[in-house]
Amino acid sequence: MNPPPHAVRHLYVHIPFCAAKCDYCAFYSEPAQSERVERFLAALAREIEKVAARLEPETIFFGGGTPSILTLAQFEKLLTHLRARIPSLDSQITRHELEWTVEMNPATVSADKARLLRSFGVNRASMGVQSFDDELLQQLGRVHTAAMALESIVLLRAAGFDNLNLDFIFAIPGQTQAQWEQTLRQAIALEPQHLSTYELTYEDDTPLFRRLGAGGVARLDEPVPTAMYERMLELTAEAGFRQYEISNIARPGRECRHNLNAWRGGEYVGVGPSACGFVDGWRYRNVPDIDAYIARIERGESPAVQTERLSPRARAGELAAFALRMNEGIEATAFERQTGFRLDRLWPDALRDLAGHELVAWDGNRLRLTPRGRLLADTVAEAFIIVDKTETCSHHPAYVD
Ligand code: SF4
Repeated sequence: MNPPPHAVRHLYVHIPFCAAKCDYCAFYSEPAQSERVERFLAALAREIEKVAARLEPETIFFGGGTPSILTLAQFEKLLTHLRARIPSLDSQITRHELEWTVEMNPATVSADKARLLRSFGVNRASMGVQSFDDELLQQLGRVHTAAMALESIVLLRAAGFDNLNLDFIFAIPGQTQAQWEQTLRQAIALEPQHLSTYELTYEDDTPLFRRLGAGGVARLDEPVPTAMYERMLELTAEAGFRQYEISNIARPGRECRHNLNAWRGGEYVGVGPSACGFVDGWRYRNVPDIDAYIARIERGESPAVQTERLSPRARAGELAAFALRMNEGIEATAFERQTGFRLDRLWPDALRDLAGHELVAWDGNRLRLTPRGRLLADTVAEAFIIVDKTETCSHHPAYVD
């Protein structure tokens, strides 16, 4: 008889609806029409049933889309279902060992919702503030104002959220360094536990990309984005935050455990359309379309449309590329234990060249990006990617029948 499969400790739940599409966004999401949301939630509940037996979560992350767009009744049903299907959740919550994050948009936060989420054990809110300048928010096509973000933070705190992440975007067309500093100072004054800051990217097929092509907006060119990023690091460090990943800064001990697990190459189960997971060495991706997702689940089929296993060498390369994003970098012995490969044997030339260009620091035991390497992280990561044969299969690695 086979031993029972081990438990997976991290769960990602994708809620693919938004109040309106932001002008820069290439994530998969659609407008929330109530009947469609209900059908989606019924399908999601069935997918959760299929994977629940594999789960003993230490972290749960509701991402999107805009998870906070769900109504009180929809949240109550979904969270009740999760807690009923995953019995270990109750004790994790009682022992204060679960990190449970819900991503929120300021336009969709209410006092009732915040209280309901807290009462079910959600203890981390991640709010897409993006800027405290209303003109820049309009430029991004956001549906909220800076005042709404401030009000939402007050509501969340009043409901008992004491672990708050705020997301920001910099290098927005027309944004000055002074405006960026003002937004950062306001963010720091709000005393969140965590900040995420991302340089605006112009994704194909977005309204912003089209405006750029038509000359309606001008991209902020170097050295402005780099100066904005470096100023963010200075101001947050002065305020006692610690950078732990290229785009993520936290008070010590408030790093996002869910994301750390993914960057360290840990397993996680993803549910919902377009969600990804990594279980038993297999990585999978669910169909990135709400109707196709619902249809597959209603037919009793797996929503995974791509399940693949990299070769051990390719997997080691992927792991190195991800782990380098973190300030802790890669510890050579742990890497060898996890992958079976020695860093200096698999990439002797890359290590020498990257260190020679001061993009990485390598002391024979730990490999890290240098501050200069952090600005060119994607280029550095390419040096570790190994293209190799990939095994595919048609089963969903987290499903238990
Ligand atoms: S709220 Fe987030 S996921 Fe939704 S459209 Fe805007 S950026 Fe994209």
